[in-house]
Amino acid sequence: MIALKDQEPHKMTNCLPSRIISYMEYVLCAVSGGSGSKDFFTYSVPEDLRNEIKVGHVVSLPFRGKKSAGIVIRSEDIPVFETKAITGILEGPLPDHLVKIIPWMRDYYASPVSEIIKTILPTGVLKKRREIAPQKIHGQIRKRPELTVNQTKIVKDILSKTDRPHLVFGVTGSGKTEVYLDVLEKVIESGKQAIILVPEVALTPQTVLRFEERFTGQVALYHSYLKETERAGVWKDISEGRKNIVIGSRSALFLPFNSLGLIVIDEEHETSYKQDSNPKYLTCEVAGKFSEMTDSHLVLGSATPSLESFFYAKSGKYYLHKLEERYVQEKMPETIIVDMRNEFKYGNKSIFSEKLQQEIKKVLDEKRQVVLFMNRRGFSTFVSCRDCGYVVMCPKCDIPLVYHETRNQTGLYCHHCDYKTLVPNVCPECKSHAIKYFGKGTQKIESEIRQFFPKARVKRMDADSVKKDHKNIYEEFKNKSFDILIGTQMIAKGWDLPDVDLVGIVSADNMLNLPDFRASEHAFSLITQVSGRTGRGKNRGKVILQSYNPESPILAMAAKHDYEAFYESELPKRKELFYPPYSKIIHLLYSNKDPEKCEKESDTLSKEITQEIIGTNKNIVLVGPSPAFLPKINNLYRWQIILKVGPNENIEEIAKKMVKYTSKKWKVDINPIGIV
Ligand code: ADP
Ligand code: ZN
Ligand code: ZN
Repeated sequence: MIALKDQEPHKMTNCLPSRIISYMEYVLCAVSGGSGSKDFFTYSVPEDLRNEIKVGHVVSLPFRGKKSAGIVIRSEDIPVFETKAITGILEGPLPDHLVKIIPWMRDYYASPVSEIIKTILPTGVLKKRREIAPQKIHGQIRKRPELTVNQTKIVKDILSKTDRPHLVFGVTGSGKTEVYLDVLEKVIESGKQAIILVPEVALTPQTVLRFEERFTGQVALYHSYLKETERAGVWKDISEGRKNIVIGSRSALFLPFNSLGLIVIDEEHETSYKQDSNPKYLTCEVAGKFSEMTDSHLVLGSATPSLESFFYAKSGKYYLHKLEERYVQEKMPETIIVDMRNEFKYGNKSIFSEKLQQEIKKVLDEKRQVVLFMNRRGFSTFVSCRDCGYVVMCPKCDIPLVYHETRNQTGLYCHHCDYKTLVPNVCPECKSHAIKYFGKGTQKIESEIRQFFPKARVKRMDADSVKKDHKNIYEEFKNKSFDILIGTQMIAKGWDLPDVDLVGIVSADNMLNLPDFRASEHAFSLITQVSGRTGRGKNRGKVILQSYNPESPILAMAAKHDYEAFYESELPKRKELFYPPYSKIIHLLYSNKDPEKCEKESDTLSKEITQEIIGTNKNIVLVGPSPAFLPKINNLYRWQIILKVGPNENIEEIAKKMVKYTSKKWKVDINPIGIV
């Protein structure tokens, strides 16, 4: 029980900033392990820990009858209710910015606190025993190339300002990475730490190598392919200052940097920077918060920035730095758009146009290499009856099944649940035998290529063919162990392949026709990226872009590598439809076995939001409720409500009001990427 004399120091400390408090009797903790727990809990501190405990400490505590872990958020007043006591200090204290981000993410992303804690404390960290820190490793710094006047100016600009993000805009090869390296060098020299985020560590081996060479021994890698113990090892290395630089995927942002000085987000437009499970954060937003809290430099880089970022850069919310040309004076590849309607008209039923076939042959004859790109692994390969039009659907999701050939079993698979089945011999509807495969995916391309070019050595890379050996495929291809690489966006990333003279984009239409307001933007950046796989060696590369809609202005702009023209043409459409960057989107999704319940719940919530949040405000627009783009997944029906929130509204305040809907089984997503 609380003794009266203990109240004095407590009152006194209340007016001090939490960091200085060295004596805490009660603490507010974010608790992990509490499933769906939305809030923080007050605990008492045993006497022997009161002098030691600090904000940010990871503590062990009892929670709902189980031993659990928590993070101390702040000192608390003497509670009127009875509290349990924490049982020990496990780790930390974590840096301030990680502590402060917890309530922010809870309120803004409507995420359960336990999921945020999992992001900050990856499994393994608390299992590992505290180790004695070995000495710091001082790697020698490699000689760097002389930067151009423009690059030097950009580096100086970035180093002089932390008040806004810096967007470095320049095509692949324009020298962005050299800029990051120099900024990084200065930041490290000043004794600070840095995060370099790349979309996929495994897919960018040569970028990683450049950082490792320049900062030998100081760089840690952090990504999803690490084992639990390896991840925990990096966590400790950062926390205890043994390593100062992390190159990683988005989760690296949450490593416990005690003196953060720089965050670089390379290829900032990539959708992998959005986490689509809880907490559903946008890397750039969290990085912005961290930059504010720690006064760090924030650098975003891209050849095809997200429309939002470029808009912010143009309107002064970000600093804009342009790198005009490829540093290495290679020519951009020549892009040829092929009209596939003509091919069909003149009797070519193959998925490869005459032109593409000729070019592949030429390149193979010259012993050079080819990349063939298809954005989906058989997304459009559905199976249908030619007589009655019956399409084989997933019974649990009501969407067409996709034909796949796998090592063990050939059959029809659902991309949205675990359903699989055999291809029917006869149509279940009309008993016809005319079962036909429509559309094309990477597997189809592979089998056709093998027919056309039986001597060529071919490999396919997509989610079905590989899991972890990206790096091997890259090395093998680079060493010319095979001639043609077929793949999805996995092969679009920053691979440096000097012997690739030809890129074939087998279908541009798949990308353009997706029902998403960002479809054009994604198509433009994908085409640009894939095109960049050629023309990096002695020859000027060639890109063949096949389309049934060759008049599309987006293809023309992509062929000319003209991002700014694309931006100018796309922006008015966004404005007209009140889409980002002119609004922020909040997506609300409800799913249930019973479609009527979905509809009813959606109606109720729409009315509630209209009444409580929108009122007469014209800057918030509610769209729906309606069935979601995928109206049924895994036997659950899905309904959605979309809110478009204007720029003058306080999005954080509105988001906070959404949190309560999660307890009514609504899923909330701020800034969704691709509304499905
Ligand atoms: P990006 O990151 O924009 O793709 P990089 O920084 O990788 O561009 O630069 C492309 C190539 O040009 C790299 O090999 C890089 O080392 C080289 N490079 C860039 N800037 C310079 C410079 N100022 N002096 C010498 N080489 C440079
Ligand atoms: Zn039929
Ligand atoms: Zn399914």
